[in-house]
Amino acid sequence: MLTHFDLVEKALRGEFLSVEEGAFLFREAPLPLLMQAAHTVRNRYHNPNEVTWIIDRNINYTNVCSSGCQFCNFFRGKNSKEAWTITLDEMCLKIDELFRLGGDQILLQGGMHPNYDISWYETLFRALKERYPNLKLHALGPPEVFHIAKISGLSIKTTLERLIAAGLDSLPGAGAEILVDRVRSEISPAKCSADEWLEVMHEAHKLGLITSATMMFGHVETIDERMEHLVKVREIQEKKPEGAIGFISFIPWPFQDEGTRLAKRLNRRFSTTTSEYVRMIAISRLMLPNIKNIQASWLTTGIEAGSVCLFSGANDFGSIMIEERVVSVAGSHHSADSNQLTKAIQSAGFTPVRRNQRFEHLG
Ligand code: SF4
Repeated sequence: MLTHFDLVEKALRGEFLSVEEGAFLFREAPLPLLMQAAHTVRNRYHNPNEVTWIIDRNINYTNVCSSGCQFCNFFRGKNSKEAWTITLDEMCLKIDELFRLGGDQILLQGGMHPNYDISWYETLFRALKERYPNLKLHALGPPEVFHIAKISGLSIKTTLERLIAAGLDSLPGAGAEILVDRVRSEISPAKCSADEWLEVMHEAHKLGLITSATMMFGHVETIDERMEHLVKVREIQEKKPEGAIGFISFIPWPFQDEGTRLAKRLNRRFSTTTSEYVRMIAISRLMLPNIKNIQASWLTTGIEAGSVCLFSGANDFGSIMIEERVVSVAGSHHSADSNQLTKAIQSAGFTPVRRNQRFEHLG
């Protein structure tokens, strides 16, 4: 029987930990041991003195979604009085503001709109790229791509090819939650399955798209299922073509439960302590040696908890927050501008380095 010291040594040698090994470490290892090991691995990939960050902005283009995820307060049915889709002009005002703040990338996400097929997105992406040739479109996510493919009668590959031709620059890892179908059937039964999510990402990697991977934890999943999620992400990364970047980063965040149907249905509250979040960041760093960047999600946990993660395997602090409507309607109310974000990084003892979506440092 291996001890936690043996398993930490194994991770430090760059070997893959199994689901059982990861779960054992997560449950049993002292937090300082995990933090120290994860920080050591982080410092092999990155300058130990630097922490990266980015200026981009979320734009939610519609709140109409047919998925009805149990943890989501954001969506409305298409006939709801509260349903909306923003106009191109409204979107442009938001993009103008982003460029004024020095950013050039939007994280464009909505829902699974029953009427928006591939041509709707092609028209939108082309219009945006025509007005803003330098704009970077970090847009959609595997469930939206899967949905668009389905209602357009296209394969995943063709859907991605057409979105790329229209201007898609990179694909966020949205909608992963926990990549285990037992969990998905309980919290998001109408969303794509774990295998379908992974299939979209594998196709994206084959087409050379840069993607990210995420995890929303702290709801109905077990610790073993969290580790299964990490192993599945790691396996897809192993299958990416030679020379492709694949998943450029991994971003875990804790579930925000305020007012959600999941919390009401189960009649319980869900919360993740700072130490559990830090532990999750550290174990992610140790379980995913083939993904270079781990991001601390200060948006859901706050700047202080995010700062501790910079000593637990995270090397990136994400973006300033100009607009975000999905987690903010589930109880997350943190915000920060460039000054606050860089000050937080400096207060933790690091040099803030601004980056783009490819993690190239900007002067
Ligand atoms: S989380 Fe996304 S897919 Fe699920 S209901 Fe909300 S908008 Fe729709």
